Amino acid sequence: MVDIIGGPSLPQERKLVTSIPGPKSQELLARKNAAVASGVGVALPVSIVAAGGGVMVDVDGNSLIDLGSGIAVTGVGNSSPAVVEAVINQVQQFTHTCFTVTPYEGYVAVAEKLNELVPGDFEKRSALFNSGAEAVENAIKIARHFTKKPAVVVFDHSYHGRTNLTMGMTAKNMPYKDGFGPFAPEVYRVPASYPYRDGLTGAEAASQAISQIEKQVGAGNLAAIIIEPIQGEGGFIAPAEGFLPAIQKWSTENNVVFILDEVQTGFARTGDLFAANHEGVVADIVTTAKGIAGGLPLSAVTGRADIMDSAHSGGLGGTYAGSPISCAAALATIDTYEKENLAERAREIGAIITEFFTELQKTDDRIGDIRGRGAMMAVEFVESGSKKANAALTGAIASHAANEAVILLTCGTYGNVVRFLPPLSISDELLREGLQVIADALAAN
Ligand SMILES: *Cc1c(COP(=O)(O)O)cnc(C)c1O
Repeated sequence: MVDIIGGPSLPQERKLVTSIPGPKSQELLARKNAAVASGVGVALPVSIVAAGGGVMVDVDGNSLIDLGSGIAVTGVGNSSPAVVEAVINQVQQFTHTCFTVTPYEGYVAVAEKLNELVPGDFEKRSALFNSGAEAVENAIKIARHFTKKPAVVVFDHSYHGRTNLTMGMTAKNMPYKDGFGPFAPEVYRVPASYPYRDGLTGAEAASQAISQIEKQVGAGNLAAIIIEPIQGEGGFIAPAEGFLPAIQKWSTENNVVFILDEVQTGFARTGDLFAANHEGVVADIVTTAKGIAGGLPLSAVTGRADIMDSAHSGGLGGTYAGSPISCAAALATIDTYEKENLAERAREIGAIITEFFTELQKTDDRIGDIRGRGAMMAVEFVESGSKKANAALTGAIASHAANEAVILLTCGTYGNVVRFLPPLSISDELLREGLQVIADALAAN
């Protein structure tokens, strides 16, 4: 059945043989529209048949440069050989038992690995789930159970998922929340640190947030503060230096569980295994998912043993949580990050992107801000001569890129941010070719 094999041996080239979407992709799109709920939208309507290295190949034979990694998932590359081998071996052994019915080694080995790698010089425990949202939900469950307090603090521009609780925790209304309420109670939002727009130091932004928490929530009611070390969907906003340590310090002093949501930033993406390491911030609990298992669904909650162990036996779990296939993939994936030193590769990718746009910015002041870390970089577009968000230009760049066979994602509360999340297996040549397409889009708009 398989007539084209993905993985790194795919020709690493951008190639257009039809317009995008081509006729066969359009056939799939028509079937999709007739069969799939409209709420499940697509960013780029091509029908993918294979992917690997830095490309995705569609059913019409177009080869697209991948600057999105399926939203920061395929850090090790699509169909990475070690992951493929681990998955094949596992599916031949057994596909499922439900870990909470009859356990297996892979789950325990992933937990051991996470406990070792997640920052924090203390005893840890992990629990595995399927999606990022599910990890966030469970982190909150555990923090509430441990502190016996109800409230949760989240930040402006945050993204935590699409389940009811995590929708309520997510900042942006469209498309994530509109009409989907009511949302769970006891979720409070405070200002984040957004250096490009608020002009505050980390300490100033933290004291603004803390003051609001003290006045409007009260430490005595607060179970957890949860924050993305670099805000993802919100616009790849790295907080000003000192912001995260100040929030962490206040949490510790007030018996509030400090949770870092590393679902998007985790696993070498930012040039370190975890984004928290850039400022030496140590969380009580860390949530991970996306980059953890080379494309297979898996997420984790890792934290201080006393907090994690506070929930009673049977209180945590799920039918598919920590699937043996996903665990096998995760072990191979984490091994690949370490063996191939992909954190270093992420830093190289970040340097190329930063240099490219810094050069362009000299002659185009619509490039308002270039930010991020490692292979999690973004450009915020504004109107010439101001900081007014330029969502129209951002949309035009994304559609130009799509027509030119470059998969490019946007984000940001104001819809004016282009984000770069290439697989860490992309070559310099392909990356530069993809960036040039964006430069061409800027020149044409
Ligand atoms: C994507 C994301 C989530 C949700 O993960 P899903 O697997 O889509 O449920 C949660 N938090 C952050 C920071 C994310 O980027």
